Amino acid sequence: MKAVASLNSGSSSIKFALFALEADGELSLSASGKIEKIGIAPTLKAKSSDGATIVERDWPDGAALGHADLLGDLFVWASEHPLEGRETIAVGHRVVHGGTQFAEPRLVDAALLSALDALCPLAPLHQPHNLAAIHAIARLQPGLPQIACFDTAFHTSKPAVASRFAIPRALHDQGIRRYGFHGLSYEYIARRLAELDPALAAGRVIVAHLGNGASLCAMHGCRSVDTTMGFTALDGLMMGTRCGALDPGVVLHLQTRMGMSATEVEDLLYRQSGMLGVSGISSDMRNLTQSGAVEAEEAIDLFVWRIAREVGALAASLGGLDGIIFTAGIGENNADIRSRICRRLEWLGVQLDERANAGNASLVSHSASPVAVRVIPTDEERMIAHHTLAILGKIER
Ligand code: ADP
Repeated sequence: MKAVASLNSGSSSIKFALFALEADGELSLSASGKIEKIGIAPTLKAKSSDGATIVERDWPDGAALGHADLLGDLFVWASEHPLEGRETIAVGHRVVHGGTQFAEPRLVDAALLSALDALCPLAPLHQPHNLAAIHAIARLQPGLPQIACFDTAFHTSKPAVASRFAIPRALHDQGIRRYGFHGLSYEYIARRLAELDPALAAGRVIVAHLGNGASLCAMHGCRSVDTTMGFTALDGLMMGTRCGALDPGVVLHLQTRMGMSATEVEDLLYRQSGMLGVSGISSDMRNLTQSGAVEAEEAIDLFVWRIAREVGALAASLGGLDGIIFTAGIGENNADIRSRICRRLEWLGVQLDERANAGNASLVSHSASPVAVRVIPTDEERMIAHHTLAILGKIER
């Protein structure tokens, strides 16, 4: 049976999934997993669609192993353990930046790779790892079609006003503009919402993707009209270790008055800030909710307040609000955070059904709530597999 693989290669982890192509053209999940702690002591875990563990490995002395080495090991393992004879016919990749040029998924070739390489300065912490995975697969299996799916693509529908910074226009023309990210997650949610609640999908909806990385997307009729992330995935909401929106004067102060180098500031804002920086305890919401420390509570308060504030801003971009969708690790699983956000949004017409919310129902607002609130699990890997299959179909035609 034929299958397509999805790869989401980040700085310290690689998420992967294998989807079987069923006779009716649908994709069914065969296996999924994660390589984590790359650069420290890598671990690999994969499970089949029924949740059973199919591989668990670790490399305690593997700090020197890079993405290519680990993907190589994963490939060797996969070829020795074919899942019920499944043959991988293509690999789809999450690629963070498609710049102004790529609004659709693309088949990877040398020209595309060099165009994507040129975008690395715009996403230095993500793009090189995405491209490293593509290079690694090309070396391991040269003939295998690879498809690049862009996190920025979903937001290319934004109006011009939502794409511009108030800086000299020559810089905008050079690509310094608001792009937006998490696009594969938002696209998946838009499709699921259209299936679950077509009337709401046609309206004005804010999707809250709340994971380690976090952002909001304002959609009208399932198209992005505004989002909280901008030029990089550092902007907008407070995140696990990223600061989110920050007065740019702080960056100048850190460099000119406090003598920090650009690399130190980058590390501070991307890896030492957010929930970790404010709490001084952890970047992980589960640890913070269990902590009981005042600093953990302050970090959670700030996380909630910032989200509520940005929902207000995006509601203005939309000219009103019909629904809010929660997704990703925190959005899908943390009922208390959802409740705290929604209580701050009652003025907008949000009436949460606390019992439905605590029970992790799909619809968590009261039936009479002017703003519907839903929880929809995201699935970026499936979205990548879907695009991969669609591009393969175009090539074969
Ligand atoms: P990413 O894909 O950006 O690495 P995730 O979407 O997995 O992140 O979200 C990670 C966040 O979600 C962490 O803060 C974690 O504590 C939280 N989270 C994940 N699962 C749960 C759960 N079952 N209950 C509460 N919080 C959870």
